[in-house]
Amino acid sequence: MPNIDLHNHSTRSDGLLSPTALLELAARKGVDALALTDHDTLEGLEEAAAAAKGLGVGFVPGVEISVSWGPTTIHVVGLQVDPTSAVLRAGLEGIRSGRLARARLIGDALAHLGFEGTFDAALAIAKDERIISRTHFARHLAERGVVRDTQQAFDKYLAKGKPAFVPHRWASLEEAVTWIRGSGGVAVLAHPGRYDLKPMMREELLKEFRGFGGEAIEVVTGSHRPEEYALWQREALAHGFLASRGADYHGPGESPYEPGTLPQLHASLTPVWSKWHH
Ligand code: AMP
Ligand code: MN
Ligand code: MN
Ligand code: MN
Repeated sequence: MPNIDLHNHSTRSDGLLSPTALLELAARKGVDALALTDHDTLEGLEEAAAAAKGLGVGFVPGVEISVSWGPTTIHVVGLQVDPTSAVLRAGLEGIRSGRLARARLIGDALAHLGFEGTFDAALAIAKDERIISRTHFARHLAERGVVRDTQQAFDKYLAKGKPAFVPHRWASLEEAVTWIRGSGGVAVLAHPGRYDLKPMMREELLKEFRGFGGEAIEVVTGSHRPEEYALWQREALAHGFLASRGADYHGPGESPYEPGTLPQLHASLTPVWSKWHH
């Protein structure tokens, strides 16, 4: 089976490596084809495609869209999207525009907890106010020594239910799937095990996603624990979804799996890349 990894981040959102450095790492890891799937932006795709070409690595242009599904934040990955698509670009622009105001509120909440100046520091790390994310706050808190590492920053302050969590309204599930399909892409439900949904809501999400035109779910991902693969494998088969595999790599020291190092999909699944990789 080819080594295909369909979920990775770069400095164009909350990753630590440039698109070029990410592709260089993928080449060293023996990846046959890699998708760059930055949060709510297509900015890194041109650089990544050029780097992939030079390295002889296959490239899949992608994106990871932030979605609000009721009170739950969901991520939908688009694969083989057209980076020039007007409908997709306009949709992403709309979601990104809320990030700056939300980041100011996160900064206010942290100041209230006694940590001054985190907004400016996080912005300096993000470099671009349209993509500023909780990860940039987490990196600052870790650098400052307030927490041991970025994971602890989420666990203590930034995750849902913690004191510096600021709720935010992202795209709707229908919008995200429609934009992806409108750009010629395939919509993939990212790391479904991360949403902490009861079985009934889980079934509801999968049905709705399918109804809007979603075609695949991530089964083997760096954001699932290995014990979870079997459940999502069953769900993919039960609902007739194609299956995806991706590290959800953010950078050295921040992600459990480097690109192309996860186990392969079980042979009973139809990989999402069967749609384009023959
Ligand atoms: P944002 O889009 O600003 O809400 O940031 C979301 C990003 O933060 C995700 O893509 C992950 O990279 C990271 N993240 C979210 N929740 C957690 C968590 N509980 N632990 C570690 N990282 C997280
Ligand atoms: Mn992220
Ligand atoms: Mn995600
Ligand atoms: Mn991701």
